[in-house]
Amino acid sequence: MSKRVVVFVIMALVLSVAFTDIVSARVVEEHIWLVPAGDIDGKTLGYLKNNLPDCFPMTMNVTVDALKEIPKSAYNSSKKKYNADVILDDISNRTTVDVTNERALVVTDVELYTLDADSVSGISDVKKGISVISLKDGSGNLTLEKTLKLAVRELAHSWGLADCVNPRCIMNPTEHRRDTFCHECRIKLRHRYDKPLIKMPQIL
Ligand SMILES: [Zn+2]
Repeated sequence: MSKRVVVFVIMALVLSVAFTDIVSARVVEEHIWLVPAGDIDGKTLGYLKNNLPDCFPMTMNVTVDALKEIPKSAYNSSKKKYNADVILDDISNRTTVDVTNERALVVTDVELYTLDADSVSGISDVKKGISVISLKDGSGNLTLEKTLKLAVRELAHSWGLADCVNPRCIMNPTEHRRDTFCHECRIKLRHRYDKPLIKMPQIL
């Protein structure tokens, strides 16, 4: 083998390794800001930060943002709860979210209500790209697993995904829902990207 051929083979090997690295490089499609509002412990925020990326069919970075104060105007003294829409609007005005690839998930430790519902676990605004969830329900504090499911559901709502009739889907609005998205919901979540999931026939 001539020297020229040896040099060519080495260069080809170096280029192929470099190209493989470029192709397999992790492209982050979404950036999630976890926004603590209230007395939220680091364990809960750490659990969400570590587990949220594995729940979605897209790649994401999760960053814990600075603590935000819950607006006093959101408190309703007769209900002893906070208006979720007021919290969402207030924090939206103090936060910059680029809805093309960012979402903010506000995590509160207060009980929430809206004008439509006396008690809600979370709400989302697609246009603003912000969700608010509460770690409290009527019976006390949510477990970490329930908090993660709630966070996943509200983030999915913030991308425009509706409730799902599939009982095996996390978007099914029942207590016994699973912790993953059904195939249809995964496809819907991927619709905003260049590489949507391939639609496969459903095996029943
Ligand atoms: Zn579904």
